[in-house]
Amino acid sequence: MSQALTLYRLQQIDSQTDRARARLDIVQKTLEDDASLKQAIQQAESAAAEQSAAEGNQKQADAEVQALRVKIEQTESSLYSGAVRNPKELQDLQNEAAALKRHLITLEDRLLEAMLATESAQDKNKRAQALLAAAQSNWTEQNQSFSQEQAGLLKDIQKLNTERLAITGSLAAEQFGLYEQLRQQRGGLAVTNIQENTCGACGTTLTPALVQAARSSGQMSRCPTCGRILFGN
Ligand SMILES: [Zn+2]
Repeated sequence: MSQALTLYRLQQIDSQTDRARARLDIVQKTLEDDASLKQAIQQAESAAAEQSAAEGNQKQADAEVQALRVKIEQTESSLYSGAVRNPKELQDLQNEAAALKRHLITLEDRLLEAMLATESAQDKNKRAQALLAAAQSNWTEQNQSFSQEQAGLLKDIQKLNTERLAITGSLAAEQFGLYEQLRQQRGGLAVTNIQENTCGACGTTLTPALVQAARSSGQMSRCPTCGRILFGN
């Protein structure tokens, strides 16, 4: 195998590895990122808390109404029992019963408001729980497919690494050093093919002599503009 072909194959392996690593990075970040699930959990928790607070308020408002009704009944029963005969006392009892009934209207209004608030909190909680269930099943599903992809990518990278080792072992240290240096300086692409007598990476037109040299197996040619190693297929 000519040096240029060996380097070209190394470049193909490295480019494939670069792509696999970039994708692996995205997959791993996605697997770690459960922000939307966390948000759904938070919203469901706060909706559940709001519902139980609203139910508590309603219970209290209901108890107040019941207690006041009992008090009104007691007041009216002493009013009509005949036990109180003093007109001043009777008048006081009548006034008190009237005041309690006015207050009852206020408390009943409050109870109605509390019931409406409970109903709306229950609806909101129901929606939040449904959204949470959807987010959880979505997350599980997504996790499964990304985990599979992650395992596949790790396997691919390992296979590419083995192939890489077999190739680099056959390269002279000088060539390999140049290759690594160009990979670093030229965005990961050290070796390029020749396309219609131009550099496949930067597009510079190459002289016929250079194209010929790149095609001959003996020597290594480089693009005069970008410095990349040319592979004349
Ligand atoms: Zn070039």
